[in-house]
Amino acid sequence: MNEKIALFTIFGGTGDLAKRKLYPSLFRLYRKGNLAEHFAVIGTARRDWSDDHYREIVRDTIKDLNPTTEEAEAFSSHFYYQSHNVNDSEHYDTLKKLSDTLNDKYKLGGNHIYYLAMAPQFFGTIVQHLKSQEILTDNGFDRLVIEKPFGSDYDSAYQLNEEIRAVFPEKDIFRIDHYLGKEMIQNISAIRFANNIFESQWNNRYIDNVQITFAESLGVEDRGGYYEHSGALKDMVQNHILQVVALLAMEPPVAFSEAEIRAEKVKALQAIRLYSEKEALENFVRGQYGHGKLEEQEFVSYREEPNVDEHSQTETFVAGKFLIDNFRWSGVPFYIRTGKRLTEKGTRINIVFKQVPVNVFKDDIDKCGEKTDLPPNVLTIYIQPTEGFSMTLNGKEIGQGFTTTPVKLDYRHSAETTGNSPEAYEKLLLDSLNGDGTNFSHWDEVAQSWRIVDIIRHAWDKTSVEFPNYAAGSMGPDAAFDLLARDNFTWDWQP
Ligand code: NAD
Repeated sequence: MNEKIALFTIFGGTGDLAKRKLYPSLFRLYRKGNLAEHFAVIGTARRDWSDDHYREIVRDTIKDLNPTTEEAEAFSSHFYYQSHNVNDSEHYDTLKKLSDTLNDKYKLGGNHIYYLAMAPQFFGTIVQHLKSQEILTDNGFDRLVIEKPFGSDYDSAYQLNEEIRAVFPEKDIFRIDHYLGKEMIQNISAIRFANNIFESQWNNRYIDNVQITFAESLGVEDRGGYYEHSGALKDMVQNHILQVVALLAMEPPVAFSEAEIRAEKVKALQAIRLYSEKEALENFVRGQYGHGKLEEQEFVSYREEPNVDEHSQTETFVAGKFLIDNFRWSGVPFYIRTGKRLTEKGTRINIVFKQVPVNVFKDDIDKCGEKTDLPPNVLTIYIQPTEGFSMTLNGKEIGQGFTTTPVKLDYRHSAETTGNSPEAYEKLLLDSLNGDGTNFSHWDEVAQSWRIVDIIRHAWDKTSVEFPNYAAGSMGPDAAFDLLARDNFTWDWQP
C-alpha cells in the first residue's frame, strides 16, 4: 500500500463533523495502510483538552469499526490537541511550534493539510493567520480542505474566495462536496463514458427529460438554527444538485483527468439558462412541511421544530426545471427536487428516454383498453440508500396475443459491498493527500452555481408564499407535480 505522509491540522477538532466523519475516515485509511507511521493529527478547537483526553475521544469515534485495543492505541497515539481561539495570533505561534515538532518526530517532509471543520465565517481569519504567522512553509505541500457552505450568495462566496486565494493557490484548495465522494455519483461517469449504448443516446434526440431527486425522510432535526438561514435551495441545490447536473450534462472529457473533467463541468454549468426572475418563479417551486403522518408516525410541522421561527418563510423543499442551452441538451428539461420530511429517503437520477418514433403495438394495446403510449425506457441511477442502476424496457407479455409489458433490469450493489466500500470522506481525504482535486468543487463551478441560484433566491425573496404547503410524509407540494404535468411528464419514483 502506498503510504501517504502528512500532518493534518483539523480546525474544529472537537466538532460533530470531525468526530462523526473525519476520525473514522482517517482510521479506515490507517487500517488500509494509506496512513502508517508518517502521519500526525493536530486537533484544535476552543475547549481545553489534554492529548490524553483527545485520544480517548478519537478512540471512541472509531469503536464501531471494531479496532483491536492495540490498533486503537497505535492510531490515536498520532493525535495531538491544541486549545486554540482562531482569532488569537499567539495561538498560531504555539500551533507552529507543535507542527514543527511533529514534522520532525514523524518525518512528515513538511506536507501539511489544513482541514477547516468550522463555520465558514472563520475561514478568512484562519488562512490569514496561517500566512502571517509563517506556518506555511516552502517544504512539502500545504493544502486547504474546506467544508460547505462556501458563501451564502455569489458576493459572499466571491469575498471568501478572495481571502482564501490571497494565501492558497486554487490547486491547493479542496472544497468538499461530499456527494462527489459517493460511489454512485462517481459511477455516473462510468455509466456514460464506458458504455457506448448510453453515450450514443445521451442527447436531445433520444432523451426526453432528466429527473434528479434528493429526498430526505428526516426533518430538520437539531439543525433548525442553521437551516433557517439556509433553506433547501442553498443547502442542496447550489452545491450537490448542480454538481450532479454538471456530471450528467458535461461533454465527454478528452481524458479522465482533473483538468479535463473540470473544464467540461464548468462549460455545462455555463450552458444552464440564467432565468429572468419571472422565469425563475415559473420554473421553480418551494415548499415547507406542515404537520403530517406516515405509517402511524406523527410529525410536527417545520415551524414547530426547535430553533425555528413560528412564522418561518424558509423552504424545506425545492423543485425546479433547468434548461441547458447547448447543442446536446437544447429542449431537454432537467427536473430537480429535494426536500425534508418526504415519504422516504432516496437519492436517484432518472434518465427518461423518448418514445419510439411509431408505436406499432398501438392497436394491440388499445384493444386491452390500456393507454396507447408505451411507457418510456428509464435508466435510474440509485445513489443512496441503495446503490446501483436499473433500466426499464418494454417486452412482450408471455402468452398468446401480443401485449407489451414493462420489464426492469435491476442491479444493486449488495449490502456487503456497500458496507465495505470506502466512505465518501475517506475517499476525499485520500484524494486530498494525493493532491487530486477531481472530486472537489473548483471556484469556477461554485461561482456559476451561485449565479444560477441567486436569481431564484432573489425572485423568491420578493414574493410571498403560503407555508406550510405540504404534509410531512408526502412527496412535496402539488406544484412540484404540476411542474412536470405542464410538460406532459410525471416524476418516475420506483422502488
Ligand atoms: P460543530 O459546531 O459541531 O463544531 C464546530 C467546531 O468549531 C468545534 O470544534 C468548536 O470548538 C470550534 N470552534 C468554534 N468557534 C471557535 C473559535 N472561535 N476558535 C476555535 N474553535 C472554534 O460544527 P460541525 O457540525 O462539526 O460543522 C463544521 C463545519 O462543517 C461547518 O461549516 C458545517 O457547515 C460543515 N459541515 C458539517 C457537516 C456535519 O455532518 N456535521 C456536514 C457538512 C458540512
